[in-house]
Formats: sequence, structure tokens, C-alpha cells
Amino acid sequence: MNKKLIQIAEISLSIKTNPSEIKNKIISILNINSEEIINYQIIKRAIDSRNKKRINFVYTINIEIKNIQNVIKNLETLDPYLVRKHRIKILEPSIYQIKKTSTKITHRPIIVGSGPSGLFTALLLAQAGFKPLIIERGKDLDNRIKDVTLFSKTGELNLESNVQFGEGGAGTFSDGKLYTLITNHRLKYIFEEFIKAGAPKEITWDAKPHIGTDKLKIVVKNIRQKIIKLGGEILFNTKLTDLKIKNNKIYSIIVNDKKEISTEYLILGIGHSARDTYQMLFDKNIKMEAKTFSMGLRIEHSTKMINQSQYGKFYESPLLPAASYKLVAHLPQNRSVYTFCMCPGGQVMNASSEKERLVTNGMSRYAQDQENSNSALLVNVTPEDFGSSHPLAGIEFQRHWENQAFVAGGGDYKAPVQLVGDFLRERTSVVVKKIKPSFKPGVTPTNLDNCLPDYIINSIRKALPILNTKINGFSDPEAILTGVETRSSSPLRILRDENFQTNIKGIYPIGEGSGHAGGIVSSALDGILTAENIIENY
Ligand SMILES: Cc1cc2nc3c(=O)[nH]c(=O)nc-3n(C[C@H](O)[C@H](O)[C@H](O)COP(=O)(O)OP(=O)(O)OC[C@H]3O[C@@H](n4cnc5c(N)ncnc54)[C@H](O)[C@@H]3O)c2cc1C
Repeated sequence: MNKKLIQIAEISLSIKTNPSEIKNKIISILNINSEEIINYQIIKRAIDSRNKKRINFVYTINIEIKNIQNVIKNLETLDPYLVRKHRIKILEPSIYQIKKTSTKITHRPIIVGSGPSGLFTALLLAQAGFKPLIIERGKDLDNRIKDVTLFSKTGELNLESNVQFGEGGAGTFSDGKLYTLITNHRLKYIFEEFIKAGAPKEITWDAKPHIGTDKLKIVVKNIRQKIIKLGGEILFNTKLTDLKIKNNKIYSIIVNDKKEISTEYLILGIGHSARDTYQMLFDKNIKMEAKTFSMGLRIEHSTKMINQSQYGKFYESPLLPAASYKLVAHLPQNRSVYTFCMCPGGQVMNASSEKERLVTNGMSRYAQDQENSNSALLVNVTPEDFGSSHPLAGIEFQRHWENQAFVAGGGDYKAPVQLVGDFLRERTSVVVKKIKPSFKPGVTPTNLDNCLPDYIINSIRKALPILNTKINGFSDPEAILTGVETRSSSPLRILRDENFQTNIKGIYPIGEGSGHAGGIVSSALDGILTAENIIENY
């Protein structure tokens, strides 16, 4: 967009109103004639369901106007209340420019990991002419899907090809939620690349964009193809296992314990579950520190109940997506409990990646049409909880509770579950009832008290009735709690300087695993910022 635009927010229309009515709203708010509008574009659509009798879509619109200078002048005469209410502003043109290198690339950058951070670093570097090499410990998507499917049927876990490891990274089997609280003009580039790779256009305007695991898989494959077309390369089943460092600088890496590849630029987009790689980096004296993250349980309700609670009589409206929520219970004497990674019409995922350790997460398809909706119920844990000041102590802490959950689930990667009613009464569950748990390969009804530290269990116990006042039915006695959610974000941070490099020069930790980002979009953005830095300083 290289013209000045006008932006109007908070245009509220009933879900039943034809969106063409937006134009009339623009005309009336700006006090202009219809002919003056060249074009307008919805850039955000949120759902306002506070009043269950009248649910509205709330739009933010960018408008291209014939004589913008006149309109700017007129803005001064508009009612200041209206200007404030609709946050009317003039947008300066912004185009994301990719700088291309004219320098001969002698050592091409190596990117470790093909998650969102690695893929977007590679994409931008490839577009700039760098021909990057991506190495990925897991398999390509089609073969990875086979391993994840086998695991969900039989409990046979492939330690290198699972929900955490393989093409597309941790988010491939996710809800594909693409919202972030970050504002940055580069987000437009990320969304445009997603759309070019097959994501639906609505991600640019939906207030809660999500593409589901089904569309995400297409996007990941297409971005891979694009990187290859631009001269990049990707090697699957290729794990970074060692580093060679000279004069405090990286000069080569070892993959799969044998092959050496030289490089001066090593980008680590390894995610938060590459515990063996973290250990190797620690042994190589890369500076890192333990950090706060969150742990808890997944809660699963019927989608119909959540829709009824959020949308009232409109709960079956085809105009509305499966309802979501974001809740927090502040507890005076306990730690606060908040919901995270809510997956409307989705399923609870078996996100395990280590032997005898069990981890939950959530995902959904684009249609969000499953019987249950789920979210994580999380509580913050800080380095003081880990029982050691070692930078890797958070990993050992996670491992301990993941093992407790594995044992409580019966030792075959079934998840331990408890009915909310039993959990609140501190009673062991023996059966599940009306809500059928979606976790695969299955669940074991039990008592979750031993699966997490007391302060987390007690906080969740106190929070459930409070959350029930926000969503009627949230603490439904037959709702399912599944343990344990331990990998909400990285348990450590790899220290980096203002040029994104570690104490060993030429090494760039990025994305969720670096501890500097979290989620698909912010990890992708972190990758882009790092790639820009490399391009500028090459
Ligand atoms: C089930 C699930 C659902 C989720 N849902 C959402 C969601 O809806 N929205 C959202 O924003 N976030 C979601 N997340 C979180 C999101 O997936 C992560 O924040 C994001 O993927 C982080 O991106 P990344 O590139 O930093 O790391 P990752 O995506 O974790 O990618 C790291 C990659 O590095 C590879 N790797 C690791 N070590 C090595 C090594 N030594 N050598 C070679 N390769 C290596 C791994 O195999 C992996 O492919 C979800 C996560 C999970 C598990």
C-alpha cells in the first residue's frame, strides 16, 4: 500500500447485517459522499458478544479516498468524540522492503530447525540472495504425519519425529492461531507470505486469525518449496550435534555426530523441546539462564456448552465461528491461573517427545468443528521453584512432572485425566462421563494430584469456581482435566547481544527456544529481525 489511507475502528454491526453496510457507516462517520471512496478494506473483524441479545461484528477499516487532503482538513471539523470513539487516523504508506545482497556468499548461513522462526529466517535470507541451508532433525511433513498418526494409535513414540520435531516445528499440529499482541509493520509481510503459501485471506483481518493444522501443513510445504526455488536447501533427518569454535567464533558444525559443515552464520531455531541440543550448547559454554514459564492442565468441555455460554441464543449461528475465551483468575494467596492456547472445536494433543514423559497441548482444524473445545489452565513457575540455580534446572523440573504424568497415565503414553467434579472434591476419577476425552492413544481416569506441584494443583482448584462465574459451565463436574501441560514456553533463555548473537560470535538463537519469543507469529518475527541483521552486517 503506497498511498495515504484513513483508518476507522469500532464500526459495530449486528452479525446479521450485510457487510456492505460498512460503506454507509464510513460515509456517515467521515461526513463524505459515496463517490469520494475509491476503495475500502476490512483489516480487522472482532466479535462483540457481551450482549447475548445482540452479537456484533466490530470492524476496523482502511479507506482509500479520492481527495485525501480535503478529508484530512475535514477531520478537524469532525466531532472529537467521534474521532476518539472510532480512533480515526491517517495511515502513512508502509512497504516492507527486502534488501538483496550483491556480495558473493562464501559461507552460506545454516538454520537449525524448520519451525516458524527457522522457516521465516530462511525465507527472508533466500529472498535476499543468501541460499541458506536448513537442517531439521525430524522428517519431512508427509513422513512426520505418519509417525504422529502411529503414535496416536499405538503409543509408539518416535523420538525424532513427533508433535515437537519435524518439518514445520511444534506449531504444525496446532490450532494455527496467528494472533499476537505485538505490533510491528513486518507482521504484514508474514501474513502475506502465509497467504501466498495457501493460508486464507481472512487472516489479515480476523481479530483472532487461525488457520488450523490442515491449512498450516499446506503453508509449511509451500514455504519450503519457495525457499528451495530461491536457491536454499533443506536436509531432513539431520540433527545438529556439535559445534566447532575458534577464537570465540563458530566455524563449523557437526551433524548426526559425524558430518562437518563449515559456516560463519549459525541460526538456532530449535524450539523449546530440544533438550539434548540445549545441553550441548551449555557444554560449549554458550551463556543461558533459567526463566519463568507456566505449567498446568488442559481442560476440555463440550463445544456446544462453550458456544451457548459465549453466544447465548446465537450459539448455533453459522455466521459465528466456534466460540473462544481467554480467562484469568487472580488468587490473593495463591498464584494466578490463566487459560492459554484455547482450541475451539479442537482436540487435546499428545505432545510428548521424550521416553516415559507425557506432555499435553491442543490443536484444531480450520473448521474448528470437533465436539469438544479445550484450553490450557496454567500457573507461572519461576526459577526459585526449580530447586537449583543451574540454567537447565527448568528442564529437569519439567521432566520430573512429565514423568509423574506418564506413570499416572499407566505408562503407555495414555494421559491421566480427572473429572472436574472429582478434582474439586479431591476424589479419584474412575470413569469419564458425558464428555469424551479427545486425547490419543487414550486416557486413564485417575487422580491428578501427584502430577503437578501442590501450589499448581491448589491454585487450579481455587480458580475453577471463579472461572465458572465468567463462563457458565466452566467447572462442569463432568468436564475433563488432562495432565500435564509443561511446555507452554521455553524454560530457559539463551543470552544474546543487540546483534542477536550469543557470547560465541556467529551464533544466533531465535524463536521460542531462544526464550526471546513465543508462539508462531512472534517466533517468525524474531527470525525476520535476525535475518535482517545478518543481511545488513554481512
Ligand atoms: C500442539 C501445539 C499447538 C500449538 N498451537 C499454537 C497456536 O495455535 N498458535 C501459536 O502461536 N503457537 C502455538 N504453539 C506454539 C508454537 O508451535 C511455537 O511457539 C512455535 O512453533 C515456535 O517456533 P520455533 O520456530 O521457535 O520452534 P519450533 O516450532 O519448536 O521448531 C523447532 C524445530 O527445530 C528442530 N530442531 C530442534 N533441535 C534440532 C537440532 N539439534 N538439529 C536440527 N533440528 C532441530 C525441531 O525438530 C523443530 O522442527 C503450539 C505448540 C504445540 C506443540
